[in-house]
Amino acid sequence: MIIGSHVSMSGSEYLVGSVKEMLSYQANAMMIYTGAPQNSRRVPLEKLKIEEAKALLEEHNIPFNQIIIHAPYLINLANTQKPETFQLGVELLQNEIKRSEAIGAKYLVLHPGSHVGSGIEKGIESIIAGLNQALSETNQVLVCIETMAGKGSECGHTLEEIAQIMQGCQYPLGVCLDTCHMHDAGYDVSDFDALLDEFDQVIGLEHLHVIHLNDSVNVKGARKDRHANIGFGQIGFDALCQIAHHPRTAHVAKILETPYINGHAPYGIEIEMLKNRCFDENALSVLRK
Ligand code: FE
Ligand code: FE
Ligand code: ZN
Repeated sequence: MIIGSHVSMSGSEYLVGSVKEMLSYQANAMMIYTGAPQNSRRVPLEKLKIEEAKALLEEHNIPFNQIIIHAPYLINLANTQKPETFQLGVELLQNEIKRSEAIGAKYLVLHPGSHVGSGIEKGIESIIAGLNQALSETNQVLVCIETMAGKGSECGHTLEEIAQIMQGCQYPLGVCLDTCHMHDAGYDVSDFDALLDEFDQVIGLEHLHVIHLNDSVNVKGARKDRHANIGFGQIGFDALCQIAHHPRTAHVAKILETPYINGHAPYGIEIEMLKNRCFDENALSVLRK
């Protein structure tokens, strides 16, 4: 099983610190933001300790393609109302692609964006135009479009919309399936086999490269996007555990983005429960004290 979580890249150790955090959760995959997700300030690449991080991964026999990068939230390629927002998004995405390539990551997760009132069709057209500007033939990293919950004016909350973006883009794209977002968008993730069939028909299962494994606070179809700890939400432990162990997606990295408890990361405990296929509703209570 390829499983891990979002980890931080702060402190003086940067990427080495991220790898150490991942290892502390007994994980073999991780997702990082190369800087704060909400802004565009970025530490120079030379400072990130990339080579040291690679050596540490090698020591633990973890392939570098299990390191996933998440693009900053600031990027909104769907905004047709403010050309400067769109242009900034294109520039930030180009920059993030370069950083991901320098780090050696294979997958860069990107939110498709919000149309901010212009409608889904216009939004999707704009996303396609932005991707065609930002990407190029020489890209080493594969941009993976994340399935969204459909809160506000988010584009990409149906598989069909994701497929439309992929078909319009002149370069290859991948997909990141977020279980909380799919559930909030109205899909039944508890029947994962059926969901994978639908994914295969609409998009093609070979394009699925990342799974964000999160429970959801809200009911199916709520379009809220509030992540819950594994087994503590509306999706439930059994369904999420089945997804974690599903043979058809065994090669796909599962990344937890569940909420911290009292300032403590829940990931080590959640990963252990998933690996053991055994839910303990008191397991996280040590963090609550
Ligand atoms: Fe995301
Ligand atoms: Fe996500
Ligand atoms: Zn989310």
